[in-house]
Amino acid sequence: GSPGKSMMQSVDDDAWLPNFRADQVPFETAHEDWSTSSWREKQQLQQPTYLDEDALQAATDELRRMPPLVFAGEARTLTEEVARAGRGEGFLLFGGDCAESFLEFSADNIRDTFRVMCQMGVVLNYGGGLPTTKIGRMAGQFAKPRSADTETIDGVELPSYRGDIINGPEFTEEARIPDPQRLVKCYYQSAATLNLLRAFANGGYAALGRTGSWEMDFVKGTSQGQMYTDLASRVDQALEFMAACGVDVENTASSTSFWTAHEACLLEYEGAFIRKDSTSGLPYGTSAHLLWVGERTRQLDGAHMEIMRGIANPIGVKVSNKIEDQELVDLCNCLNPENREGRLTLITRMGAGLLKKELPRLINVVRDAGLNVTWVADPMHGNTETSSSGYKTRRFDNIRQELEEFFEVHEAEVSVPGGIHLEMTGRNVTECTGGGVGVTDENLNENYVTHCDPRLNNQQALELAFVVAGYLRK
Ligand code: PEP
Ligand code: MN
Repeated sequence: GSPGKSMMQSVDDDAWLPNFRADQVPFETAHEDWSTSSWREKQQLQQPTYLDEDALQAATDELRRMPPLVFAGEARTLTEEVARAGRGEGFLLFGGDCAESFLEFSADNIRDTFRVMCQMGVVLNYGGGLPTTKIGRMAGQFAKPRSADTETIDGVELPSYRGDIINGPEFTEEARIPDPQRLVKCYYQSAATLNLLRAFANGGYAALGRTGSWEMDFVKGTSQGQMYTDLASRVDQALEFMAACGVDVENTASSTSFWTAHEACLLEYEGAFIRKDSTSGLPYGTSAHLLWVGERTRQLDGAHMEIMRGIANPIGVKVSNKIEDQELVDLCNCLNPENREGRLTLITRMGAGLLKKELPRLINVVRDAGLNVTWVADPMHGNTETSSSGYKTRRFDNIRQELEEFFEVHEAEVSVPGGIHLEMTGRNVTECTGGGVGVTDENLNENYVTHCDPRLNNQQALELAFVVAGYLRK
């Protein structure tokens, strides 16, 4: 993205006025019956109950005065890249934490995740032969849907932790009270994160020549090891060749684009960032380039779908095997009535085994209805289990297997596998088991730091990129 340019193009002057209130501005939208506050009339699942309504109002008023984090022109460019992936001419790589947190916030962590995603991008570009669009679950991925409203430990029942944007993870009554000031703190953390990401993407850090130090310890344990080492050295050779031809690899291939995405879970936060784009006159969600609706909040008549159908960003929806045929068609029509390419990404997450059985049905329903979607695989959320040592974990083999099924089914159905969506970090954590680095159930306690779901570590994530490049080549 080129933030400077699109800032000039896309942000309405009004958006910068201190008293700007999104819900007082008449938007021209594709939907007569939509407004920036129409979601308030709908059922709001997975929301905290704030005890102090004035404090909540003060916090969201403050957010409404804040500059947008992303710009409409950027979201439009990403829409084109999502469309390209949907046609099989590109590939989407989503990656990042399950939940960003205050505790894990540091420049090093942001850099490490950015770096491993760039490496994966190179592997997919070069090995898979497709231009890869990198989308970080970063700079806004804070709110978490929970399967239960409360958590009980040793007979003590407290409200569930819902992400640092809502309450604290500590198991105390005080920490679990939703605090509206956390919305503001998350905005500033997101702004700082995005500032660093934009600097990394455009300031030289992402130069191709720097991807070379692959740190491929995982190859030692895998039968595929030689293939990965060969591919990595072919990438290095290609770079050397470019340099020999007089291309200044360090400096010319020095920028990349990097987008942000998160689950639009916390309605008050997302609602505060709907801004009018002066170029198109349309409302955009400006908390991230792409926003998605979770599996638990995608009810057609719910508040989350209401907010999403009105904004012009590229939108994702997580879908499991639970979705019924007609529900899927209605969902696509609701979010993408004009059936535009790139508008809608369906992120399937069912678990290894189930995906192979159920994905053909989804693909055929979408195809029979003539709907344009970009299919992405989330091989994480259907493969969560508890390890023998008591940790919430995922096995590398199950993750790989769900991806393999994703590619096989799309090939058999003559459909397009458009991307992958991973929970991962650039750090050397021990949260998922397996992979060439061989994390075992007994190792999990060594560096288990996630605030929510278990993530692939840097080595496991890179290994998976090689696996996927292999599927793309077939
Ligand atoms: C997530 O992406 O962290 C998540 C909660 O996903 P899902 O809605 O698919 O469960
Ligand atoms: Mn998760």
